[in-house]
Amino acid sequence: MINVTKTYLPDKEKYKKYIDEIYAAGKITNNGFLVQKLEKKLAEYLGVKNIVLVANGTVALEIAYRTLGLKGFAVTTPFSFVATTSSLVTNGLLPIFADIDPETLNIDPEKIEEKITPNTSVIVGTHVFGNPCAVEKIDAIAKKYDLKVIYDGAHSFGVRHKDKSIAEYGDIMTLSFHATKLFHTIEGGALVINDDALVEKARYLINFGIKNQEEIPELGTNAKMNEFEAAMGLCVLDDIAEINAKRKELFDRYKQALESAVTFQKVHPQTIKNYSYCPVLFQNETQLLRVQSGLNEHNIFPRRYFYPSLDTLSYIEPKQYMPIGRDISKRILCLPIYAELSFEEQSSIIDIVKAHL
Ligand SMILES: *Cc1c(COP(=O)(O)O)cnc(C)c1O
Repeated sequence: MINVTKTYLPDKEKYKKYIDEIYAAGKITNNGFLVQKLEKKLAEYLGVKNIVLVANGTVALEIAYRTLGLKGFAVTTPFSFVATTSSLVTNGLLPIFADIDPETLNIDPEKIEEKITPNTSVIVGTHVFGNPCAVEKIDAIAKKYDLKVIYDGAHSFGVRHKDKSIAEYGDIMTLSFHATKLFHTIEGGALVINDDALVEKARYLINFGIKNQEEIPELGTNAKMNEFEAAMGLCVLDDIAEINAKRKELFDRYKQALESAVTFQKVHPQTIKNYSYCPVLFQNETQLLRVQSGLNEHNIFPRRYFYPSLDTLSYIEPKQYMPIGRDISKRILCLPIYAELSFEEQSSIIDIVKAHL
């Protein structure tokens, strides 16, 4: 069976050495030494100042909203994983969608301004499949209306844009380190916080709001990463260059073979990508379903990321209608891409796709 992705498992002996260290230290969570070590290594690898590790990418978004003290309305994208929207709702923020650009698949900066009201406090964009949002335009809008900017960077591990980390754009970028993501810690996530003054607040928030034995200055939650997760992250990080190189090869082969038949996402020329996904757009949903069932017959399971469009969620009020988000979500499919996928397997995927167009 071939799925859209396969969790990368690092060398078991290396992981066991870390487990031995954890047992020797006797401390398995609460900002342990491996969490601290992984934070340092990730800050260095990503080229960012402040990174706070957390339990998952969903809670990273929640902590981001709470760190910035957001209230009211959030202008956000209908084309993302459901957690981008649901995390807003569970934190009392009302999602107001701005439709996407049909080529970049990101929130369309030209459609943001008309959605802003005096109640808007934040723009929440997703760098979809690791493709940077129109960060400069969004920044200008945010300045004009005095709004915060949060990017859901769950797909953007290691992406660089105009010679700096994509995480340095916006007030906070969040990451997911779930097992299905490019870089993972089993379950996990992070916040990259660009204002040094907010880092301490985020650290209290992930630890019940506790500052020390005397003071609890914030309304917090429990969002801590544990040592076994950090150990996994340290092992995967050692192999990330190799993982990326293989993914790039696979992506380039897909592109070469399928470019004339399906549409690929448009990416800014000054972006260094991470090849975390291989999304392709079909002419219509019928064509997509035909290709999908053709692949399924051979035990190959691509994924419909992201379907359905988030403006169709039953719990969203007021009701909203994003025609481009709905159209794109109906005809986009992510093809299998992961370090262990062989070129032979990939060639058969390509042949099956072509045969069912
Ligand atoms: C995976 C993902 C999340 C959620 O991350 P978890 O670590 O699974 O909680 C949020 N947003 C996007 C865009 C994602 O792909």
